[in-house]
Amino acid sequence: MELIYETIHHSGQIKMESTTSLKDIKQETIPKEVDEKWLRGMNRRSIYESLFVQQFIKSPIAMTNYDFFVQQLIKMDTPCLFSMVDDYKDIRKDTKGIAKEFASLETDKEILAFANKYGLLGILTQPSSGTIDYYYPTVFEPVYFWRHHIKEVKNLLKIYSTLKKKNIETNTDIIGDIVNYNSSAQGDFEWIDGGEKIPVYIYEEDLTTREDIDHLDELAGVHILGNVIRNRMKNTINLDFGDIVPSQKSSIGFRFKETYITNYLLGAIYYDLWTLISNNENVLFCPYCGDPFTKSGRKKFCSDSCRVMAHNAKKKGDK
Ligand SMILES: [Zn+2]
Repeated sequence: MELIYETIHHSGQIKMESTTSLKDIKQETIPKEVDEKWLRGMNRRSIYESLFVQQFIKSPIAMTNYDFFVQQLIKMDTPCLFSMVDDYKDIRKDTKGIAKEFASLETDKEILAFANKYGLLGILTQPSSGTIDYYYPTVFEPVYFWRHHIKEVKNLLKIYSTLKKKNIETNTDIIGDIVNYNSSAQGDFEWIDGGEKIPVYIYEEDLTTREDIDHLDELAGVHILGNVIRNRMKNTINLDFGDIVPSQKSSIGFRFKETYITNYLLGAIYYDLWTLISNNENVLFCPYCGDPFTKSGRKKFCSDSCRVMAHNAKKKGDK
């Protein structure tokens, strides 16, 4: 089903600054004590400020010690994206193919450009592979939140493409190449490139048949794909019946056109990833830079520049 993604982040309103600038905004906008009267008067403030304050203190779902978390961020002096929202008007953005685009982001500059195109991810809390994110209309997000999810989406694409390859050749592995499996620790998995736990448990005593044991690698891949994507999409996507279309088949003369809708970019990214898997799309990884790309014709590299650089590197090696 089609997904509509609507965001308050308009193109070109996002900038990257150190988290230390949270300190300045904080002093200006956060009152010592929040009282109801003050919050009611909030519509007189700028939209950015009110969203900032909401993200900071008013969110009913904010994690405990959010204040402490922001203090830590300020101390860390780490890059952070700020969205200077000046209008609540939602705008729709096309997010088809966004999962691969997101997974290919590398530099801060690329992350900033992507954010200016699509908006902020919409996550409030420190990500981990094991928990469900708190989605929220955010106005600031540390870049390391982004890097966590970029890595995760890229790893999930790798698992998916390895599972596809396994149907054809056998000498390709998920365990050992993409994830580690520690059977002594209750069947825990973790990402090989970051050592973060993945919330998927396969207990050895449950692997009863020869078949199960032989296919542990596939089982792990499928479980990780399904569980992580399901967790990430939780509380992000709603069913919408906004469009009413005339229909002769319907006894009321009209039908409600169903769509999915989300206000959170990260939800749209995981939905795109899910769609790609459901549609059996092919994903290749560039042998030069490692970025995922769509196969077309006999293309082996993600871009001409990678093809040229791989060629030059080979020539150098041959000498
Ligand atoms: Zn490349």
